[in-house]
Amino acid sequence: MAEKVVKSEEEWRQILTPEQFYVCRQKGTERAFSGAYYDCKEEGTYHCVCCGAALFSSATKYDSGTGWPSFWAPLHEDAVRYAEDRSWFMRRTEVLCSRCDAHLGHVFNDGPPPTGLRYCINSVALKLVKKTPDA
Ligand code: FE
Repeated sequence: MAEKVVKSEEEWRQILTPEQFYVCRQKGTERAFSGAYYDCKEEGTYHCVCCGAALFSSATKYDSGTGWPSFWAPLHEDAVRYAEDRSWFMRRTEVLCSRCDAHLGHVFNDGPPPTGLRYCINSVALKLVKKTPDA
């Protein structure tokens, strides 16, 4: 298991943009259809914007129509961790970066095969590292 990245709120505030800080460290949600990646079809790996850990592959990304980037699986089982979220009178499963505990989004049971899962992730929590074309 990779070493944890632990920073104080003040340290995160200095590294991140206000929107990144709001979503990742204060469990906010970006507006639907507002992010950089909901409609992105580029090949590559999506990394945590806070700590750089690789989280999702474009190979599991699909268009859920929700306005947030959606994946049917994380890159590795250990890449993310889960927490119960009972805010807003709902019972949801929160998805966090297992390395730095960044809030990424939520996971739902209405995704496509093979997993049936929908990882609904904020664009602002991600940074796409595009696959380099074969030379
Ligand atoms: Fe992280």
